[in-house]
This record gives sequence, C-alpha cells and structure tokens, in this order.
Amino acid sequence: MELDSLYQEVILEHYKRPLNKALSANPLVQVHHINTSCGDEITLNLDMDGEVIKSITWDGVGCSISQASTSVVSDLLSGKTSSEAMALIEEFQVMLQSKGSDLGNEDNLGDGVAFAGVAKFPARVKCALLGWMASKDAISQAVAKINGLSSEEKR
Ligand code: ZN
Repeated sequence: MELDSLYQEVILEHYKRPLNKALSANPLVQVHHINTSCGDEITLNLDMDGEVIKSITWDGVGCSISQASTSVVSDLLSGKTSSEAMALIEEFQVMLQSKGSDLGNEDNLGDGVAFAGVAKFPARVKCALLGWMASKDAISQAVAKINGLSSEEKR
C-alpha cells in the first residue's frame, strides 16, 4: 500500500518508538482487544482523574499500523475529558470510514491524520481503529464505574 511518505514516516516513528507502551499498575479499567483479520492484539489500561483521562498505557503485538495508531491515541487522549476523548475517537473513525475523502483535522487529531490514507485500504482500517476502539471501550467502562460510584455515594 502507498501512503504519503511524510505520513509513512510518522507511522514508522510511532511504531519504532511507541508512546505509553508500558502497562500501568492497578488501572481503573483494563481492556483487551484483538483484530482477528490481521492478528493484532492490544491490552490497554485507562486511569481517570475525575472527568479527565490521566493516562492510557498499553502493550501489544501486531502490524505497524495497529501499534503506531495505539501509540498516537494513547498520547492524544491523555489530559482530555471523557467526552472530548469520545468526540475525537468519533472523528478518527469517520475519517477512516470515508474511503479517503476525509483527510482529518490535524488540530484535533494530531498525528492521527497520518492514518487518513489507510481509509483507502479497507483491509487495514481495522488495524488503524484497534487502539481507538479499545480506548472507547475503556472510557465507557470508566465512566460507568465513576457514575456507579457517585450514585452509591448519594445513598
Ligand atoms: Zn494489522
């Protein structure tokens, strides 16, 4: 597959030197997601500080796109509120399902726009989405947990 060479470099850089690739101890939420079509696998830990994402750490194996994309999302979402994070995940997903017509907004998605070209390769879309879907799952679980705790406090 042919991606813009600058974007290829961004992906390769994240693959070689992944960010936050070291699982935190005692996370609020841990999820494990696999992409059977390619054999990609990640475990992702999420910690929140109230409404704000304190850290996303992860470990995994798989193709460069899946691993680089997880590195990008783990960095991008740290410090965001859960609702900001969900909106960014949605934006990334829309870009990847656009078949290449949506090039992404770098102000919002940062290095995530490097994966815009992947949208033209349907077989690889799941690779690029893996870390983002795992993050979405982890954030939903964290929000449910936090809401559960606060409703218990009210009792
Ligand atoms: Zn893959």
